[in-house]
Amino acid sequence: EEEEEEEEEVLVPPARRRQEQQHRQPSRKKFRVPTPTGQQQQQQQQQQQEKAPEVPERLKQCDPELVKRIENEIMDRGDAVTFDDVAGLEGAKGAIREMVIWPMRRPELFTGLRAVPKGMLLFGPPGTGKTLIGRAIASSCEATFFSISASSLVSKWIGESEKLVRALFAVAGYREPSVVFVDEVDSLLSQRSSDENEASRRLKTEFLVQLEGVDSSKAKERVLVVGATNRPQELDEAARRRFVKRFHVPLPDATARYVLFSRLLSKNNNTLSDPELRHLVDRTHGFSGADVRNLCQEAAMGPMRDVGSRLFGAADQDDVAIPPIAFSHFEAALRITRASVSPADLVGYDEWDRQFGTQR
Ligand code: ADP
Repeated sequence: EEEEEEEEEVLVPPARRRQEQQHRQPSRKKFRVPTPTGQQQQQQQQQQQEKAPEVPERLKQCDPELVKRIENEIMDRGDAVTFDDVAGLEGAKGAIREMVIWPMRRPELFTGLRAVPKGMLLFGPPGTGKTLIGRAIASSCEATFFSISASSLVSKWIGESEKLVRALFAVAGYREPSVVFVDEVDSLLSQRSSDENEASRRLKTEFLVQLEGVDSSKAKERVLVVGATNRPQELDEAARRRFVKRFHVPLPDATARYVLFSRLLSKNNNTLSDPELRHLVDRTHGFSGADVRNLCQEAAMGPMRDVGSRLFGAADQDDVAIPPIAFSHFEAALRITRASVSPADLVGYDEWDRQFGTQR
């Protein structure tokens, strides 16, 4: 039965599906909702049909199998992420809210000189929250989120990647507002990739054409393309031009690391005092957000190891209490966890930011 529903999904326009979902939800109102008469029902259906967007020609032209794969593998139905979930990065978050979120939510107010940017780039070291920001943008615009890594375009979708890019943008347009997050966008748009071979040159061209199409003033579709890269230097001029806004997503500063530690630790029983927490913040200078999380995960294993043999060996397993995470567990974890980004790499990001970044 589930399969049947899935198949149907491709054909049901999103606006109508949303309405249907609303219908299915039990009413929270106390009074009884009057049941519509036959005539009212007919009227309602008619209205719904009027509101539902037509399946556009270019989506009809796409291979239905491919459309289905996009909806299953690239369209993301993960948990909603808010900007509050993103620690630090206040500057970038503020600018994104103003330049991207407001226009996506009220496009009628952002025309002419205030026109909505259709492509933006997030650049910075790995594990600093670029994907998280992409998700947060989608959630706060109530947009459909599509996420794909550019390198998988080449490796996983071999032979189909050009067609896929075309179909992806068709589906995104149909399900607007949409956010299309393209990770490792450098591997798609670098000078090198277009020199490599004919196939990747064609793929790059197709992607730029689609980006340009999204950019044309004729297109009313609210589709935002968010490119992410750890190697902004590799993007050539044509690619830079398409990403109108370019935000630096740096390593978390001390305040952001404090927030990260506090949040991560709040999920588990622990004995860390505030000075101990601050000590951890000092000791993790140069860590990315992902490094901080790895460190916490490693430390969280400490108490398990302390009781491991009793927990899994003895007959009285149920009586074994798991001790809280303590500062000593972090000391042990720090001995084996290193920052994943080298200081030398950081210079490049700052330089690129000064030259091409959107300043706030
Ligand atoms: P990127 O896309 O920059 O490589 P991600 O957004 O995928 O990095 O981050 C990886 C993980 O690291 C996230 O899922 C999150 O747990 C953690 N993380 C990194 N940066 C932040 C941040 N600024 N705020 C909260 N969590 C973060």
